[in-house]
Amino acid sequence: MNSSQSALSHLAPEYIRAIAPYQGGKPISELAREMGLQEADIVKLASNENPLGISPKAESAIQEALLDIARYPDGNAFALRAVVANKFKLAPEQIVFGNGSNDILELAARAFLSSNAEVIYSQHAFAVYPLVTQAMGAHGVEVPAKDYAHDLPAMLAAITPKTRLIFIANPNNPTGTLLAKEALLTFMQQVPKQVLVVLDEAYDEYLSAQDKSLAFSWLADFDNLIVSRSFSKAYGLAGLRIGFGACHPSVADMMNRVRQPFNVNSVAQAAAIASLQDDDFVARSYALNQAGMLQITQGLSQLGLSYIPSYANFVSFAVNEAAKVNQALLQNGVIVRPIANYGMPDYLRVSIGLFSENARFLSVLAQILKSNQ
Ligand SMILES: *Cc1c(COP(=O)(O)O)cnc(C)c1O
Repeated sequence: MNSSQSALSHLAPEYIRAIAPYQGGKPISELAREMGLQEADIVKLASNENPLGISPKAESAIQEALLDIARYPDGNAFALRAVVANKFKLAPEQIVFGNGSNDILELAARAFLSSNAEVIYSQHAFAVYPLVTQAMGAHGVEVPAKDYAHDLPAMLAAITPKTRLIFIANPNNPTGTLLAKEALLTFMQQVPKQVLVVLDEAYDEYLSAQDKSLAFSWLADFDNLIVSRSFSKAYGLAGLRIGFGACHPSVADMMNRVRQPFNVNSVAQAAAIASLQDDDFVARSYALNQAGMLQITQGLSQLGLSYIPSYANFVSFAVNEAAKVNQALLQNGVIVRPIANYGMPDYLRVSIGLFSENARFLSVLAQILKSNQ
């Protein structure tokens, strides 16, 4: 088998061959193998995961759900649907569940895009938007960011008769920027009704009470709005893969038609139900993140490094020779995320961890900068 130049890749359509694969955070096990390090000595601050793990209530629910995994999951997620509907004041038929919120982004693309459609997203926005666009053979339109944030007027101006979808991450990954609610509402009022807007709110739980999204309540006014939420971040369920979208029932209907019948596994459904019933865990996660964000941003400033003020559970900072610094961090057992593939080659993104993990990151970074002088 010649894997460097597969004989059959030409069978895939050109738009598939043009896809640049998603680059995730390096797994701890992989770095341990590569560098000959002990896994216990490695700190991973690369994928915006919850350093507290998961809710103890979710842990019990998972143990119980494991007893029944010989059965198919409930493809309609009846019990979880009721809990989500109740908690977020949604009608059950407004909700679509996904194998991670990535699945929601993809379902929106699969349900609404054909190969001549255009999709708008911002420069420096989440890498999955161009991926799901390209996978449909649709045309992605990347609108330049403004001060690393989404430029909503420019995104509006990019709409053409072919535009079918607009992706917006709020807060955005990897920049951590937040759009004001008023600006977003004005934007929604100006977007033509035949253009769907996917508002990706994977980090909403990390926002202060006053900054939190009101987008669920906007659904009554905008049939073309899809709000997506994740259980991977503040709820800590990244490995289980579960998220949901909320939208007009007719939009949900189309997304459900292209969904795999059993896309969300039973353990994830049980864990999500329990997680939504543990506000205390989310509050602890929020508080830890606030403190850790202060610890890391103060540490970066002390090192003379500038960063993009972030509303999420990570922060991107500028550093000379970012790729080299990243390599040195890896050699010292610290995994952060290089974001050159997001058009930010001079930045690294670090997720907020436990106090000790943040301290380790800062001290290793300080050593590296010192030895580079
Ligand atoms: C992490 C993240 C998600 C969540 O993805 P899941 O599939 O739910 O794990 C979605 N959108 C953005 C912008 C993210 O950073």
